[in-house]
Amino acid sequence: MRIPIIAGNWKMNTTVSEAVKLVGDMRPLLDPVNNVEKVVCPPFISLTAVKEALKGGSIKLGAQNMYFEEKGAFTGEVSPLMLAGLCEYVILGHSERRQYFGETNEIINKKVLAALKANLKPILCVGESLAQYDAGQTEAVVTDHVTGSLKDIPASASLIIAYEPVWAIGTGKAATSEQANKIIGIVRKVVAKMYGDSFAQSLRILYGGSVTADNIAELMKQPEIDGGLVGGASLKGDAFTSIVKQTAQVNK
Ligand code: PEP
Repeated sequence: MRIPIIAGNWKMNTTVSEAVKLVGDMRPLLDPVNNVEKVVCPPFISLTAVKEALKGGSIKLGAQNMYFEEKGAFTGEVSPLMLAGLCEYVILGHSERRQYFGETNEIINKKVLAALKANLKPILCVGESLAQYDAGQTEAVVTDHVTGSLKDIPASASLIIAYEPVWAIGTGKAATSEQANKIIGIVRKVVAKMYGDSFAQSLRILYGGSVTADNIAELMKQPEIDGGLVGGASLKGDAFTSIVKQTAQVNK
């Protein structure tokens, strides 16, 4: 049994006070929801205030990125040691990091290893671009992302993978639930080849890309899909609440 997880990636949105207000609005609706793990990932500068605002409840906290070094002359960066104790999860290798900030599998792999060393749980993002999708390269790209980014991790590592086709992120054009299920099945097979079947079967793999309150139920019915990484809809309290509640109701 893999417990489903819904994680909200707020990206570069919300001031500190807006972030605190958003989780304050969500808490009464989401704290009582069981059977699904709920995570919000606000910008770095809001982590402390949001952690405080979530105290005593059941919503967990994640960061959106981190650097792989522990400390030193890396102006503007945030280290695993700074995040440890502040949040439980960290999104790594998001396609926006790969696309705009030049992150390669090699860099992402260093980040995954550094996060695990600091007892942070990585949410590793993988997924193909539109051009790669059109060229029929989806399987090759996700295989490359998974093998490159998860090199040399312990087979007991606590982590999550999110399959996010780039063409579905922020476009309103989600993958069909069958498509997402098929690619997530492939991701699971790649992990099984690297770290064995039992690790792969216990690993939660999410779908991300234009997840909404209208498509989450269909996605969650699929056997391979263990939850969602939600961007735009995670900034709207009512939409995010509905996504979480629908996820909690799906029995597989
Ligand atoms: C994301 O950024 O991880 C994402 C899935 O965004 P959206 O839900 O807005 O497509």
